[in-house]
Amino acid sequence: MSNYQNTTTALMDITKRPEIIFSAGRGSWLEDQSGERYLDFVQGWAVNCLGHSPDVLVRALSEQAAKLINCSPAFLNEPMLRLAKDLAEVSGLERVFFTNSGGEANEGAIKLARKWGDLHMGGAYEIVTLDGGFHGRTLATMSASGKPGWDVIFEPKVPGFVKVPINDIDALSAAVGERTVAVMLEPIQGEAGVFPVSHEYLQVARALTEARGALLILDEIQTGMGRTGEMFAFQGLGVRPDIMTLGKGMGGGAPLAALLASEAVSCFAHGDQGGTFNGNPLMMAAGQAVLDTLRWPGFLETVRARSGHLQVGLEALSNRHGLGTTRGEGLLLALDVGQPRASEIVAAALDRNLLLNAPRPDSLRFMPALTVSEDEIDLMLDRLDQACLAAL
Ligand SMILES: *Cc1c(COP(=O)(O)O)cnc(C)c1O
Repeated sequence: MSNYQNTTTALMDITKRPEIIFSAGRGSWLEDQSGERYLDFVQGWAVNCLGHSPDVLVRALSEQAAKLINCSPAFLNEPMLRLAKDLAEVSGLERVFFTNSGGEANEGAIKLARKWGDLHMGGAYEIVTLDGGFHGRTLATMSASGKPGWDVIFEPKVPGFVKVPINDIDALSAAVGERTVAVMLEPIQGEAGVFPVSHEYLQVARALTEARGALLILDEIQTGMGRTGEMFAFQGLGVRPDIMTLGKGMGGGAPLAALLASEAVSCFAHGDQGGTFNGNPLMMAAGQAVLDTLRWPGFLETVRARSGHLQVGLEALSNRHGLGTTRGEGLLLALDVGQPRASEIVAAALDRNLLLNAPRPDSLRFMPALTVSEDEIDLMLDRLDQACLAAL
């Protein structure tokens, strides 16, 4: 047992963190240094889709680590070929480029769209993105994001992004024009507080881009890999993107993300794109273990069933405490608290060993492991009930 009391001394102070120091995890549970256990409904921000340290992932990582950890992005390796083939198969997008983070995948998507504009659209480079959208923390992806407050920091931004309000079809139609090379959006805005785009809006985005030979980029970093009860959210929405990005759940906790594109759109020339750690066998093994698990017969049906159970429970809880409605799909759900008290509830939940997230002052977000059990959901609802009594 280590004797670190406070790790903040040498770390850059980039966010307020609770004093707890975690040392182990299993399924829906995290354990701290003193052996205290916490029910985790954050799961590394919708990352640990199979829970903490699932056997399949531990086995895949240790077996691959013993075999080959890294060769070079300039060489082929078996796990890379296999995972790319399988992802192409399940997504219907024929080409895959692996990255280490979602932001990096979105940078790649932006570059690919600009290359497309260069080659096929007379140099068009504008990308229409949504207010409230979140695409990452690199300069270009911050510029693409519509997070309040981000428009004025780290100036100057990367130019070429036009923002429109979510689900405003007229604004979208007006924004897509001569200079537009792509529309880029999340099927459900996760960081903004779990706000889905409407079917109709997405269909219009598809039709507007298609009519001009421009691209539809779906950022499925949070919604993809089973999170919404479909393998990818777009599969439940009846549109096909030209480019899709994945991350978060993709490695089940291991840092892995990807940029996928249709054959026609995969127009990078040699040298346009790359990265030192991209496609390394160790992360590929993690991704394969996750994808294989999500493809088990019945896995996604169970996610949808758990989602129903959680929604029913949240609605009952909401009625008891006079809160608002639920939003979202699958196991990416938010509860409207109806008043700016969400962070007080999160703090009261932490006091009861429950980890929750408040993406907005008036909303709670639930992103448990996709393998969460009904009993764990009931226990979470119980603790949340107590937290609401204490905080409201
Ligand atoms: C988390 C997230 C990102 C950024 O991914 P990182 O791995 O943190 O770079 C981008 N887009 C969406 C929708 C996300 O939820």
